[in-house]
Amino acid sequence: MSTSDFIFNGRAARVVFGAGSRVHIERELLALRAQKALILFGQEQLALGTAVADQLGSHAAGVFDRATMHVPAELVTEARAVATSLGADCLIAVGGGSAVGLAKAIALESGLPIIALPTTYAGSEMTPIFGVTEAGLKRTGTDLRVLPKTVIYDPELTVTLPVALSVTSGINAIAHAAEGLYSRDANPLTSLMAEEGISALSRSLPRIVSRPDDLSARSDALYGAWLCGAVLGSVGMALHHKLCHTLGGSFNLPHAPTHTIVLPHALAYNAEAAPDAMKRIARAVGHDNAAQGLYELSRANGAPIALKEIGMLESQLDRAADIACNNAYWNPRPLEREAIRALLQRAFEGSAPQT
Ligand code: NAD
Repeated sequence: MSTSDFIFNGRAARVVFGAGSRVHIERELLALRAQKALILFGQEQLALGTAVADQLGSHAAGVFDRATMHVPAELVTEARAVATSLGADCLIAVGGGSAVGLAKAIALESGLPIIALPTTYAGSEMTPIFGVTEAGLKRTGTDLRVLPKTVIYDPELTVTLPVALSVTSGINAIAHAAEGLYSRDANPLTSLMAEEGISALSRSLPRIVSRPDDLSARSDALYGAWLCGAVLGSVGMALHHKLCHTLGGSFNLPHAPTHTIVLPHALAYNAEAAPDAMKRIARAVGHDNAAQGLYELSRANGAPIALKEIGMLESQLDRAADIACNNAYWNPRPLEREAIRALLQRAFEGSAPQT
């Protein structure tokens, strides 16, 4: 094996992993030299968020319980004002990408440190990427100030994640690692994490489907999600993420199911241009073909496989292909409008990926 030149961006988050590890929140807060945390979560995580506040006692400055999808700018302004008025010196995000996204948006201007307790497999807690939606447009950017300082991965918090969402959220995580393997700034470390992350998730998702409260499967999946999130935080993404961003943003499709449906097709599109990455993805999913292996993983575990199942209209496919090709971005295979339009058609219908 020969190793060529590379740059590895090690991200500095401290990770505390293990079933029941949320008992260490106070210790982790004090380790950051913080005293008063604002706890952020969405309405659906009310019980969990309140329990975290109770557990912290006098170290809880207060709670903000309205984290929501897409991080609306007005909510960020409101939550930031709450953090200031309560004298919070730390933010604790309890939830999925929406809660972590709100914490990041507050941290962007306030510089407050974030402790994240993820409850999905989206991976935002491992990245310095933020997004805020204003007047219907999502502005995204990268800033190291928004990268959580500490992440507490407690698989017990994921046991309530519904099976359908567990599968799509897990495949959303796999997408970060899969694109990370053929990223133009891929390096030996991120590739190791990517392959291990895909493997941990593709082994654990079927176990979660058959027994959602299997803590060992939940631990494996969260471990995989951590690794996949770390890849997303370290290297650039390509066609798959661009397509999903377009479909989510312009046609209001749900985040994790969209990733799940598009991934096999995006991999098939890139297969010939990235043979080494495909070999590693295939090995990690235990199949002889990366795209087909992921398509079968979705089908076998009851995930949606067609964009038409999740609200896309056939009449929108042309515009989706145009938007995906309009902004130039790097991809292992050049962006070919007709081939991307054909890819979208197959994803729309739910047919098998075609190289
Ligand atoms: P989410 O946080 O909105 O959660 C999805 C749904 O799952 C919500 O209804 C939530 O209430 C529910 N849920 C979460 N955890 C649960 C649990 N343990 N039990 C029961 N229900 C639970 O969405 P997500 O899929 O975690 O994240 C997607 C969002 O994150 C998108 O907006 C995406 O753009 C963003 N994201 C950002 C990055 C980044 O690096 N900035 C990375 C990945 C995702």
